[in-house]
Amino acid sequence: MKLQKLTFLLGCLLALLAAVPAAAQDAPPPLTYTVRPGDALPALAARFGTDTATVARLNSLQDPRRIYPGQRLIFPANSHPAYAWRPLAAGETLSSLARRAGMPWEDLARANTLLNPDTLLVGQSLYLPPLAPAQVTLAVSPEPRLLTALRQGLPYWRVLDLNPRPAYAGDLLTLPTDAPATPALPYPVTALNVSPQPVARGNTVILALTTAVTSSCEVIYLEGVAPCYARDAASWTALVAIPPLATPGRHTVTLQLQTDAGPVVLPVPLQVTRGRYDYERIDLPPSRQSLLDPQLSQNERVKIAQLRTLRTPERLWEYPFRRPIEASVTSYFGSRRSYGAGFTSYHDGTDFQGETGAPVLAPASGVVVLAEPLVVRGNAILIDHGWGLVSGYWHLSRIDVTVGQQVAPGDRIGALGNTGMSTGPHLHWELWVNGNAVSALQWVTNFAPELQQ
Ligand SMILES: [Zn+2]
Repeated sequence: MKLQKLTFLLGCLLALLAAVPAAAQDAPPPLTYTVRPGDALPALAARFGTDTATVARLNSLQDPRRIYPGQRLIFPANSHPAYAWRPLAAGETLSSLARRAGMPWEDLARANTLLNPDTLLVGQSLYLPPLAPAQVTLAVSPEPRLLTALRQGLPYWRVLDLNPRPAYAGDLLTLPTDAPATPALPYPVTALNVSPQPVARGNTVILALTTAVTSSCEVIYLEGVAPCYARDAASWTALVAIPPLATPGRHTVTLQLQTDAGPVVLPVPLQVTRGRYDYERIDLPPSRQSLLDPQLSQNERVKIAQLRTLRTPERLWEYPFRRPIEASVTSYFGSRRSYGAGFTSYHDGTDFQGETGAPVLAPASGVVVLAEPLVVRGNAILIDHGWGLVSGYWHLSRIDVTVGQQVAPGDRIGALGNTGMSTGPHLHWELWVNGNAVSALQWVTNFAPELQQ
């Protein structure tokens, strides 16, 4: 009886969706686009699946090289054979469609001449490129949250609360812990959270899972392996560092569980975005050029490499981190850098500008594992925070801690300076996750609420 009711409701909904766009499908209007700074006609024509000559003719352009920002151009409506009219389903938003289409939502808004993408109506006809197919991954199917709630036997508001955005193919659905495990989650996994999703290159992704039985796990991703740390007998957290030079796009990380019943493998989809990176040229004063000697930096690198890969099983840190200094950022993590020839490297830390002697504070609890002067990094401190998190502080004028000392958030560890390979007083703050440099500033934001204890 219950099932019949549901089928009836669904039938009504589908009939409604099918009825609305029928009229619009007969005569699709031409697509209008407002030229933005930097646009060139050949690229625009290609994006709309047509050619420069057609667009020039359609818009009576004398010289196709001369288009200007703010100009409205018309493109043939059916120029892109892959584009098609499609009704908006319940729970879909322009951004969720754009992510499935792999393009900015602004382009979809423009192609559909939408002034306000927030006022879309269910059943409204949209002219859309091919969308990512409905992948069956984890607990995921591209279904409205209302259907999820019905299928799971949950109150609708609980599903809405936990999922501010509608789920689409490749996304992960968050369900209350007392909800029945979704059929797509293999036993013994009962819940899995991935934050943030999507993730920008150079950031950390947190995988938090609960299992029905005691097990162990690790995460295989890109070229690395991240261990799972136990929160309790049935809850696990893995920290995955996405390299700043990783290829943006759809990736899969593999969760491998070991249970008494044997191994369980769970592929987790991960959307990696490009992120924003600056380009910087560094000019060292001649007196410090000798510090670029590869042999000198090599000795130091080996020393740091041994300590940054520490994987202490206890979690010592609080979340989120606090800033190590109250000062403005002058260079962000991941900025592409050139020391004279080519942008071959990237900045592996965050630089804060300040005056020599300004106090540098511990961002979270941990144990000091290095506190000594180095040639390239100057006066340096390394703190092991546990769970594979290690932070570094370079170019200090003073070191106020010793190896083995325990620090709490806000404890003074040293003072800002200009020692080592540095072109002015600043603090270089570095953070590693399982030995991989990541953006430390991400850790002062609450990007994964499940990390709060
Ligand atoms: Zn730096």
